Amino acid sequence: MRVGIVGGGLGGLLAGALLSRDNDVVIYEKLPYLGGRFTNIPYKGYQLSTGALHMIPHGADGYLAQLLSRAGCKVTIVNSNPDGLFRIGKRDYRYRELFNLVGLKDKIKCLKKAANLKLGRVDKSISFGEFLEDVPLALKVGNSFTGWALSMEAYSVPMDEIVEIARNYHRFGGPGVPIGGCKKVIDELSRVIVENGGRILTGCKVERIEVEEDRGYIYTEEGCSEFHLIISNLSPLLTERISNVKVIKDREPVPSRGIKISIGSREKLIKHNGVLFTPECERLCGLNCPSNVDRSLAKEGYNLIMAHALQLRDNVKREIDIVLEDIERLFGDANYEILHIQTFRDEIPVNHASSGTDVDPIVDRRLFLVGDGAKGKGGIEVEGIALGVSKVVRWIENTLS
Ligand SMILES: Cc1cc2nc3c(=O)[nH]c(=O)nc-3n(C[C@H](O)[C@H](O)[C@H](O)COP(=O)(O)OP(=O)(O)OC[C@H]3O[C@@H](n4cnc5c(N)ncnc54)[C@H](O)[C@@H]3O)c2cc1C
Repeated sequence: MRVGIVGGGLGGLLAGALLSRDNDVVIYEKLPYLGGRFTNIPYKGYQLSTGALHMIPHGADGYLAQLLSRAGCKVTIVNSNPDGLFRIGKRDYRYRELFNLVGLKDKIKCLKKAANLKLGRVDKSISFGEFLEDVPLALKVGNSFTGWALSMEAYSVPMDEIVEIARNYHRFGGPGVPIGGCKKVIDELSRVIVENGGRILTGCKVERIEVEEDRGYIYTEEGCSEFHLIISNLSPLLTERISNVKVIKDREPVPSRGIKISIGSREKLIKHNGVLFTPECERLCGLNCPSNVDRSLAKEGYNLIMAHALQLRDNVKREIDIVLEDIERLFGDANYEILHIQTFRDEIPVNHASSGTDVDPIVDRRLFLVGDGAKGKGGIEVEGIALGVSKVVRWIENTLS
């Protein structure tokens, strides 16, 4: 079958790599480079990124790692150990140690919550914030986790998403860092597509998608091409805007906003390769130091730290200032350099659909959606993209091949 893929982000390339083995795949990417919000930006000897923090939520064993391996990609993902620590006061605590920071009554409540969450025995109609709110420290910790992992406040995350996230965590474990950063994943996916005979067109913007009963058409400045199937890696909203198909059938996806600050420092301000969650900060949710895994991600003799924060209010400048103040309080007198500040919202958000608001990737028999507007349930970020891609590929293989 001829498959046209609109967008060369992680979602489009992952679908392309898997489908190119048995189909003729053409990928259209409007920018001169591939990877969208999941690739490197070389800057002053550092490998910064267009979006992601060089982290794969379930590391070497998760959904993305499994699909990469199935597609034939050679990516080494180093699992984080510890997964994460929590900065409370001036000390960093492991998750289990947090239980000792609250009084006996709250400790019993927290242990009960953790056990019930693991077993899925919770009220799934409430939010994660409501689930945690009777223990103030638990709510703060929960907020830093959802802020880091989903770019959402705990009150915005439905409990049924959290139950699935917890299940995936217990199944696959915590995050990992790909050697070479995000770009290595993208390079490997594009290598596989080209080796399978697929075509990747960069600098080629798709203007319109038309879908009929048994065919689909992609229109660019160069003209129109016919396909058996079309996969859109654009947001559900944009896909609907440029196509003749109703993509958003029920609830509108709600994009998530965030602020990312890349920091360079000679001093090892973070000494492990997991996440440092920051529950006591105003906006900052956590930081990681991917160069602790792969030295080539930082300038020689320096460390690359990536900080992720929520954007809660519309005044972006003020929000950035609050994050910078958080960082100052956290690192005190240490010597570090702010390398890059990026904000993500509207057309370029952290996720096109915040968790719980994703659309179904199977739009109709000829049009499919991949990417972070069509993630699978409980799939954090790129793991959710992998779940969505997996559903599309399975559907195509079972129904149309
Ligand atoms: C600050 C930040 C931190 C993050 N951290 C992490 C992390 O550590 N781990 C993690 O797993 N995830 C993380 N994420 C999320 C992750 O980066 C994204 O979910 C993922 O990269 C989205 O991939 P995508 O394929 O859905 O979309 P995109 O990357 O947006 O790809 C879509 C592609 O389509 C192209 N396109 C758009 N319009 C057209 C058109 N008309 N014609 C042709 N091409 C077009 C775009 O140029 C783009 O390349 C983070 C995101 C942000 C912003």
